[in-house]
Amino acid sequence: MYDLNSIYIAKTIDDAIGAMIAAPDATLICGGTDILVGLRDGVKVGGDFISIKDIEELKGIYIDKDKNIHIKPGTTFNEILSSDIIKQHVPCLLSAVIDIGGSQIRNIGTIGGNICNGFTTADAPPMLLGLNAIACITGKGTYRQKPVEYFYVKPEVMDLQTGELLTDIIIKHEDYSGYVGHYIKFSLRDAMDIAIIGCSVVCKTDGDVLQDIRISFAAAGPLPMRARSAEKQLIGVKINVELFETMGKLCLPDVSVITDKRVSKEFREHLVEVLPGRACKQALSKSNDKVVDAR
Ligand SMILES: Cc1cc2nc3c(=O)[nH]c(=O)nc-3n(C[C@H](O)[C@H](O)[C@H](O)COP(=O)(O)OP(=O)(O)OC[C@H]3O[C@@H](n4cnc5c(N)ncnc54)[C@H](O)[C@@H]3O)c2cc1C
Repeated sequence: MYDLNSIYIAKTIDDAIGAMIAAPDATLICGGTDILVGLRDGVKVGGDFISIKDIEELKGIYIDKDKNIHIKPGTTFNEILSSDIIKQHVPCLLSAVIDIGGSQIRNIGTIGGNICNGFTTADAPPMLLGLNAIACITGKGTYRQKPVEYFYVKPEVMDLQTGELLTDIIIKHEDYSGYVGHYIKFSLRDAMDIAIIGCSVVCKTDGDVLQDIRISFAAAGPLPMRARSAEKQLIGVKINVELFETMGKLCLPDVSVITDKRVSKEFREHLVEVLPGRACKQALSKSNDKVVDAR
């Protein structure tokens, strides 16, 4: 049993918005894999909750007429892993969610919850940042879009006003078409552990040259983040072994890693140095482009 005061089970987005406006202090809950762990630890004990887990409009993955991919925030990780659309068009997202928790967590935990918890250690956001994914936010009579990257305000705080919730995640055709990507999560255990550093690389090649590259990190700062200055220096660079060995060093000025109870700052810096090259190499190995031979 969990120590909560009330839970309202919303049936539609409008129903959830109405409930949020009527009870502004209530907490949204979807899969509950973060919220319920928090409750056990004394967070929001005795509080009011609004469940959005049964809202059909918040589930599923589809491609629209402009070939943009929509992932509804209530979609679970296992649904993403079994989606033919994701497998065919953005297989790099699979690498970001396949190691989340264990099978039970992937069955109930959602991609929306993984963003909206506002944790820097979450595994899906770096890949979403790399895909320039857009967060769609709905409120009472309002709808707005924001890049997922700028949807974060500060740790555990998203840009959500009273009565607003995340209702869609869009990956635009131009942001995934022709791109390959890969996410590497470095954690102290292989399963059921959060990232010490997570690194996602999404890139596009032109022959044996990097035409575009987006490098993102989990746990390399207070929020999931892009390594923008490194990216700028890497565009137009020839792809070879030296690139894989040196690209991570370029990311160091972009990050702000810390020592915590798990590992030292120095160890995190080492991971920031090595993971981008490994993720990039892995991403390119999935490409049919001749660039693979250039390695
Ligand atoms: C044993 C265990 C292992 C885990 N392992 C990992 C791991 O390896 N990697 C990882 O990244 N995470 C991990 N997690 C964390 C968790 O499973 C994920 O963050 C998951 O994606 C949360 O989704 P949820 O639907 O359960 O979120 P919930 O707990 O329901 O909600 C999380 C937060 O998001 C908000 N929220 C949810 N949906 C919306 C929405 N549509 N609009 C606005 N706000 C919303 C809620 O209000 C809450 O603040 C683990 C958790 C457990 C318990």
